[in-house]
Amino acid sequence: MASESVKVVVRCRPMNQRERELNCQPVVTVDSARGQCFIQNPGAADEPPKQFTFDGAYHMDHFTEQIYNDIAYPLVEGVTEGYNGTIFAYGQTGSGKSFTMQGLPDPSSQRGIIPRAFEHVFESVQCAENTKFLVRASYLEIYNEDVRDLLGAESKQKLELKEHPEKGVYVKGLSMHTVHNMAQCERIMEAGWKNRSVGYTLMNKDSSRSHSIFTISIEIYAVDERGKDHLRAGKLNLVDLAGSERQSKTGATGERLKEATKINLSLSALGNVISALVDGRCKHIPYRDSKLTRLLQDSLGGNTKTLMVACLSPADNNYDETLSTLRYANRAK
Ligand code: ADP
Repeated sequence: MASESVKVVVRCRPMNQRERELNCQPVVTVDSARGQCFIQNPGAADEPPKQFTFDGAYHMDHFTEQIYNDIAYPLVEGVTEGYNGTIFAYGQTGSGKSFTMQGLPDPSSQRGIIPRAFEHVFESVQCAENTKFLVRASYLEIYNEDVRDLLGAESKQKLELKEHPEKGVYVKGLSMHTVHNMAQCERIMEAGWKNRSVGYTLMNKDSSRSHSIFTISIEIYAVDERGKDHLRAGKLNLVDLAGSERQSKTGATGERLKEATKINLSLSALGNVISALVDGRCKHIPYRDSKLTRLLQDSLGGNTKTLMVACLSPADNNYDETLSTLRYANRAK
């Protein structure tokens, strides 16, 4: 891989009930030992399948627990040591992004990356010796290129992005909440989740059309033998992206179409930033092209770690979308 700091894995979910009822055929196969994923064009059975290689490839029998331990664990561990990290799931609506990020409480092996990260952070905090921590959370939404605080008293108010010579890009007026344990963190996330702008498309009526960023900021004060404090600060961004599907398939018109265009703009800006970072030869990283990439600027590239989980449907009727997800993920590695 060109860049050690960006890791890309793919995860293919099982066929869902609707796909089974429609008698869909599987077109995606995964060779997890090699980190490879193959996709067969259902309209051209005589063509060989297209092949992609990633930092990890997971199929329907793999649990989120394994994805976390393989790939997310080192990233979150880095955050507790004072580095910045970003984890996001990419894919069309219904491909398994929430399943991967939020997950199921039961079985525990399918708990999502987010609750695992919360647990991991607080376990580290509680186990560390001669160290004091301050853990704070914020949660914002980017909807139609407007930024809103999902945890603020004024959740409808649009917030501005500002740039500080030392702090970098920040959101003016974004509320920060001190959290002491995992349960508090989960409660905050749940409260913010309910404040999101929910639109609906034909593909999934309660799918959210916004991007959201839940950030855990950790300040670590290590006390040395002489009783002196040393401050390090790490930040973990857990990014929930809107579905990557193209507008034609979602039946969007008018306002919804405008919205979809902006969603796609942020997603392509994110793809461009990541591929410029991975390429390593680019002097100019196009962070400024969208609010999403500006906000993540200090947590993508440089001394930070990024993990993208590209989520796939196995079914032939999603072939175009799945191929476009694989191509997006392929650019990022
Ligand atoms: P998205 O967030 O991308 O819109 P979801 O995570 O809501 O998609 O997944 C759509 C449906 O598929 C949900 O019912 C979810 O439980 C199921 N699903 C997704 N991924 C998996 C998986 N790896 N194993 C089992 N079920 C899954």
